[in-house]
Amino acid sequence: MTAVSLGRSPTRTTLYEVDLPTLTDTLASWGEPRYRVGQVWNALYRQHRPLAESTSVPAGLRTRLADEFPLALTPKVEQHAADGMTSKWLWGAGTDGREIETVLMRYPDRATVCVSSQAGCAMGCTFCATGQEGFERHLTAGEIVEQVVRAAQHSEQRVGNVVFMGMGEPLANYDAVWGAVERLHRDVGLSARHITISTVGVVPGMRRLARETLPVTLAVSLHAPDDELRNTMIPINKRYPIAEVLDAAAEFSAARGRRVTFEYASIEGVNDSPEQAEKLAKLLRGFRGKGGAHVNIIPLNPTSGFAGTQPPPGRMLRFAEILEAAGFATSVRRNRGVDIDAACGQLRSRSGHDGADPESPE
Ligand code: SAH
Ligand code: SF4
Repeated sequence: MTAVSLGRSPTRTTLYEVDLPTLTDTLASWGEPRYRVGQVWNALYRQHRPLAESTSVPAGLRTRLADEFPLALTPKVEQHAADGMTSKWLWGAGTDGREIETVLMRYPDRATVCVSSQAGCAMGCTFCATGQEGFERHLTAGEIVEQVVRAAQHSEQRVGNVVFMGMGEPLANYDAVWGAVERLHRDVGLSARHITISTVGVVPGMRRLARETLPVTLAVSLHAPDDELRNTMIPINKRYPIAEVLDAAAEFSAARGRRVTFEYASIEGVNDSPEQAEKLAKLLRGFRGKGGAHVNIIPLNPTSGFAGTQPPPGRMLRFAEILEAAGFATSVRRNRGVDIDAACGQLRSRSGHDGADPESPE
C-alpha cells in the first residue's frame, strides 16, 4: 500500500496548517519582533487578500513565509456563473495534487463557502459523482481552512457560512474536520452555528459531535424513508441503519438544543412519491416541534454514473407540502450555478482529469 491509499497527509507544513505557537517560534528564530506574529496571523485570517499582497507585513517576510510554508492548493479550473454570484474551483491539493472542489455562493449581504473534506469518498453512494469515483485521501485541516480563506478572497460579501457539502464524508475525517472547525471559529471568526457538517450518517462521529463544545449545525443525508430503499442508494446504511442514524441525530439535537437538517435528494420514480413523503413524516415525527427538524429537498443533479433524473418541480412541491402539513420546516433547494456544474463532485468529473470521460452524456 502507498502512503496515499492510507490517507496520509502531504508532508510539508502548509501556510494554513501552521498553528500560532509554530508561527511564533518560527518568527522568533528569524529574529522578527514579537508584534509581527499578530500582524501575520491577522493577514492570514482577517484580510481578504492573499498574504503575498498584504501590505501590513513587510515584503521580505512575506517571501520568506511563502518559501517556508507553501500554499496547499493550486487552482486547476476556476469558473464563475453568468450572474457572477456563484464560483467554483477545482484545486490540486498538497504535494500529491489530488483534485478537490470548493464552491462560493454569494448573496447580496453575505456569502457561503462549500468545502471538501476528502479527495474522493469511500462511501460509494450510487447517485453521487464523488462516491462513484472512490476514495483518494483525507484532507488536512489546513487544506480545508485554505479553501474557505481563498474563496473568501473572491467575495465582496463577508463569508458568514461554511458548509461541509463538497467532496467527501466529513465525519470519516473527524480530527482534521474538527481542527478546521475550530480554526474557522476562532481565527476566521465564524459563528459555530453557521458551520454546517453534512453527514451520510456515520453514527460514531455524530455522537462525538454531540459532545463537542462548539455548537455547529448538523445536516443528515437521509434520501429515503426506509432501510430497504436506503440500502440500495447508500451502502453504509447496512452498517448504520436509519433507526441508529436518527437516534444519533436526536442525541445531537438534545445535547445542543438545535434543529437538525435532513437532506433528501429527490429522484424521479425512486423516492419522490406522496406515500414516501407520508412515510418520511412518520419516521421523523420524534423531531417535530421544539428543536425540530428541517427537511431540505435537493433536486437530483445528474451524474454520468447514475441513471436517475430529478422529478418535475410540482412533484417535489407536493412532497414538501406533505412534510409541511405534518409540522416540518421544509425547503426545496434551488439548483445554484448549474451552468458551472456547481454540484457535489461534478466539476472534477467534467474536467476529465480523473480518467472520467468529459464528453459522457448526462
Ligand atoms: N458526504 C456528506 C457531505 C457531502 S455531499 C454527505 O453525504 O452528507 C453533500 C450533499 O449532496 C449530501 O446530502 C449528498 O447526499 C448530496 N448529493 C450528492 N450527490 C448528489 C446529486 N447527484 N444530486 C443531489 N444531491 C447530491
Ligand atoms: Fe460520500 Fe456524501 Fe457522496 Fe455519499 S453523498 S459518496 S457520503 S460525498
